[in-house]
Amino acid sequence: MKEFMNMCESCNPGEVEFLQAVGEVAESVRPVLEKRPEYRKTKILERMVEPERLVMFRVPWVDDKGEVQVNRGYRIQMNSAIGPYKGGFRFHPSVNLSILKFLGFEQVFKNALTTLPMGGAKGGSNFDPKGKSDNEVMRFCHSFMNEVFRHIGADTDVPAGDIGVGGREIGFLFGAYKKLRNEFVGVLTGKGLTWGGSLIRPEATGYGCVYFASEMLATKGDSMEGKVCLVSGAGNVAQYTVEKAIQMGGKVVTLSDSAGYIYDESGITKEKLDYIMYLKNVERGRIKEYADKYPGAVYTPVDPSLDYNPLWNHNADCAFPSATQNEINRKDAQNLVGNGVKVVAEGANMPTTPDGVDIFLDAKILYGPGKAANAGGVSVSGLEMTQNSMRLSWTREEVDAYLLRIMKSIHSACVSAADEYGQPGNYVMGANIAGFTKVAEAMLAQGII
Ligand code: NDP
Repeated sequence: MKEFMNMCESCNPGEVEFLQAVGEVAESVRPVLEKRPEYRKTKILERMVEPERLVMFRVPWVDDKGEVQVNRGYRIQMNSAIGPYKGGFRFHPSVNLSILKFLGFEQVFKNALTTLPMGGAKGGSNFDPKGKSDNEVMRFCHSFMNEVFRHIGADTDVPAGDIGVGGREIGFLFGAYKKLRNEFVGVLTGKGLTWGGSLIRPEATGYGCVYFASEMLATKGDSMEGKVCLVSGAGNVAQYTVEKAIQMGGKVVTLSDSAGYIYDESGITKEKLDYIMYLKNVERGRIKEYADKYPGAVYTPVDPSLDYNPLWNHNADCAFPSATQNEINRKDAQNLVGNGVKVVAEGANMPTTPDGVDIFLDAKILYGPGKAANAGGVSVSGLEMTQNSMRLSWTREEVDAYLLRIMKSIHSACVSAADEYGQPGNYVMGANIAGFTKVAEAMLAQGII
């Protein structure tokens, strides 16, 4: 394993996030590789860490002042052993090769867990939609699609949204694809309801994450009823995590953005959540404004001198990190455990650092890693692809019932794999082993390609 990680480091120098994601999976699947020499002989893991294809391109566009701007675009097609590539686009200034490769790698195992036939991919740009006009975002999206359209397709690669890519961006991207290809197909998911989108897709990641938390609690004879919850972020995943947590009887007391967080001891009600959705999705405002509107809430700006995030230092039963990678460090994990957290369900991808994960595993709390807990989003994207192929639309209730069934199935796949390898209750090993084995079997059957 040491030799394998040395090889990864020398082939991917400085790609910290990618190496972090690979290291975690490699450690988890070690017992599988020991048991299955054919996986070692055919270099399954070595092949999995190498993207099948990686496209990097220039994205030029003109801003509202008439000035030319240049961003960098990416599409990373990681693995297509079990289905067409599938994974979101992220538009955020922090985007780089390492971050997208980690996200694409995670996506391979997550998609395998969903029970649906989807390979793994990720893409995006260092473009920041924040502070841009709708016209600027449109021009950027059209320029981005001008290149990426030749690499994707309904049976090849079906992108979706991620940080900075919501309904508005998917609309502009889809319009450009349709014009360039002269065909109306389900090439992107997260589309609007009148043009091929699925009900419950916007809700799916957040709802699915709370369903997963509820399944974990059920293993201890417990439920979401009365649970105090910490949620980070205030975007798509965070908003619908709050909605489902409230519906299932929980009380959510925090939300955040990259500038700070709010703590509302009395709990975020459905009415307050409606305001947040308007603030973030229509006005594109900041979470600070919540504390101006509801004076009982306290706003705390980010303090870069702290080595922990105070959001994670409140008494709570459940934590739903739903902003970004590595947002819970060792100290945050210690604070959460010290304050009595019972469940951590990751809405974001890889939000906990490896030493933070160790704290959760050592404390034996219910810890659901992102690739299992947030798989509801890509699952309903898969269902959107199914509806597009059938040229049919399912009802809200039908899609939600599928989502719940899939989250239950992911949960039981994790539990069974962890049990089989002598690590009961370890959802990290369970998720990694169950996802890995499915993809490995397909790769084995398809030969050395
Ligand atoms: P959004 O863009 O809708 O929201 C992201 C939120 O996180 C915003 O509140 C943003 O604040 C905050 N945030 C982003 N980057 C940082 C940062 N570096 N530090 C602090 N806060 C930050 O994205 P989503 O809700 O779609 O995605 C959130 C997470 O969930 C990501 O990790 C994503 O990969 C993951 N995910 C999303 C899925 C989906 O279906 N959308 C599916 C599975 C996982 P600000 O506005 O200040 O930037």
